[in-house]
Amino acid sequence: MLALVAIVMPVTIIVVLGYVSLRQWEASSDLLFREQARDMASMAAEKVEMMLRHTEDAFLDRLQQILSAQERPERALDALLSESPLVGRLYLFDRRGERVYPRAWRDGDAGTFGPLAAEAGKGGADRGGKYQIVAGGQICLARLVTARGEIRLAAFSRDIETLRRDILDPALRALESPTIVAVLDPAGRPVYSRAPLGDAEHMLAVGFRDALPEWRLAVYQPPGAAPRQAVRRQVMLFTVAFGVLLVLIVAGIVASWRLTRRQTEMARLKSDFVANVSHDLKTPLSVIRMFGETLEMGRVTDERQRRQYYGVITRESERLSRLIDNVLDFSRIEGGRRTYEMAPTAIEPLVRDTLDAFAHPLAQQGFKVDVSVAPNLGELPLDAGAIGQALANLVDNAIKYSGSERVLSVDARAVGGRLALTVSDRGLGIPKAEHAKIFEKFYRVGRSDTQGRRGSGVGLALVRHVAEAHGGDVTLESAPGEGSRFTLWLPLRRKPDA
Ligand code: ADP
Repeated sequence: MLALVAIVMPVTIIVVLGYVSLRQWEASSDLLFREQARDMASMAAEKVEMMLRHTEDAFLDRLQQILSAQERPERALDALLSESPLVGRLYLFDRRGERVYPRAWRDGDAGTFGPLAAEAGKGGADRGGKYQIVAGGQICLARLVTARGEIRLAAFSRDIETLRRDILDPALRALESPTIVAVLDPAGRPVYSRAPLGDAEHMLAVGFRDALPEWRLAVYQPPGAAPRQAVRRQVMLFTVAFGVLLVLIVAGIVASWRLTRRQTEMARLKSDFVANVSHDLKTPLSVIRMFGETLEMGRVTDERQRRQYYGVITRESERLSRLIDNVLDFSRIEGGRRTYEMAPTAIEPLVRDTLDAFAHPLAQQGFKVDVSVAPNLGELPLDAGAIGQALANLVDNAIKYSGSERVLSVDARAVGGRLALTVSDRGLGIPKAEHAKIFEKFYRVGRSDTQGRRGSGVGLALVRHVAEAHGGDVTLESAPGEGSRFTLWLPLRRKPDA
């Protein structure tokens, strides 16, 4: 818990600091981005104006040249007009505002150019150079002088398509910017845009000066390109990364806590094991010693009793051997040094020999013993010592954990292509929740102290290992108070590669 706080606290601080600095970065980068965009827009607007002015000045210069040189300039003017695509319409007026070129109004031009000329005639035409008036479109006015020194007022409109193609596009196409630049007319309609505007976000707009009054150059952000969005993505990424980090840290803590708990549990099981084994070694040893000493003193004169004593010594030595074999084999298994030597083995004698070793305790405790070995099992490829030991462990347990009803059944038969070697008892039984655990090393139900039976807790671990080494397994059917039924499943034939 303390470790959790010690890690979560600093992580939280880092997350908060990281978030705050990302927000600041977001604000300042947004500002910087806007400033850059504004600079770029001003420069672009200037460039457009420059190009426009350059083209129109050249046109006016040529117009002036024609007027200065020719008395009847109509044809030259027609030619000039056809060479100047940017100029849509051209009209010349005298100083009273009377139209002198061309001969007739075109379309509805009388309504737009006429009043302008009249207005300019009132004095406006005295202004030198070019100036611009917006009236229902872009119309430029300029004062020129003829060869005879008469004032001529030139009024011309711009052809929007040419403006777009020859001025705006060349000026704006090559701009180095992730934004979209567009030119808007006085009504705010885009006259030109460098890329489809779609749902791009309007950022800012700058005005043109005299050349395109009331027109504006606008800058748009394509969706997702705003620095704010980039930063937002960073924030997301940052948050997700920290989330993952946090989860990993917590998972690590939980895992290590579990491991520690498991290690503590293991250490406790091991120390139980040592105590249990020592006790199990001591009991038969002291029995052997006591009976040995008694015999040695020559106090037992009765031959029958003497033979009984010898029997006890033999059985206790056998128990001792079994225990020591179990522990040694277990340590070999743990060290990966346990090897098995498979040889064709008949099942019947193996079962009989194993049970013979328990004949005395079985008889003494009044067990009813049922043995049934199916005929024609033939010989099976197995390690007779190991299988005998596994069987002995199961029989030993059946005796050890017996209740008032003392029945031991050993059954060997072929079931579905496998040998089923079953040892059942009507003893204490095992709760379902313990079924998997009892096969773990050192594990004893309720530490089995409550059951009052001593043991090392490695017997069933060994049984399982032996079963698996033979390519089989071990299963259990048992419930408290209903006895237990352990089955060792072994393959009937040797595996092709074994
Ligand atoms: P132990 O040396 O304790 O017998 P085992 O590995 O042989 O170790 O068995 C593990 C535990 O399984 C035992 O402590 C006991 O609680 C339970 N157990 C094994 N066999 C039986 C059985 N036939 N009846 C009831 N409980 C059993």
